Amino acid sequence: MTDTDCIFCKIVAGDIPSTKVLETDRVLAFRDLHPKAPTHVLVIPKEHYRDTAALAAADPELAGAVLHAAAEVAAAEGVAEDGWRLLANTGANGGQEVFHVHFHVFGGKPLGRMLS
Ligand code: ADP
Repeated sequence: MTDTDCIFCKIVAGDIPSTKVLETDRVLAFRDLHPKAPTHVLVIPKEHYRDTAALAAADPELAGAVLHAAAEVAAAEGVAEDGWRLLANTGANGGQEVFHVHFHVFGGKPLGRMLS
């Protein structure tokens, strides 16, 4: 399932460049274009779901695979021991701007009470 107008679907397809840090058959992780921390990686399912709720409802196994990949990214980035943050902005009030579900992996500095 893809959305032809979705920039993250285009990244999955290779039509928009990205710096990949992890890829499985169903999940992709790549560096955020505008990093807000020394480690700032986005983890997405390759299939298009608009947000966390849609993903969890449609495919809990895939949601789990995305969480598993996020933890692998944190370990690979060397931030697992010091701690890191997983964030999914969901919907307008949640600050979501790209409507292909994605999880931000932040780390590499004390994150304090930063919300996004
Ligand atoms: P917010 O911008 O408020 O964090 P989102 O949670 O929807 O909203 O996050 C979208 C993220 O996607 C932003 O951090 C943005 O920098 C990132 N982004 C947008 N386009 C690209 C791209 N082509 N490659 C990598 N990251 C991107």
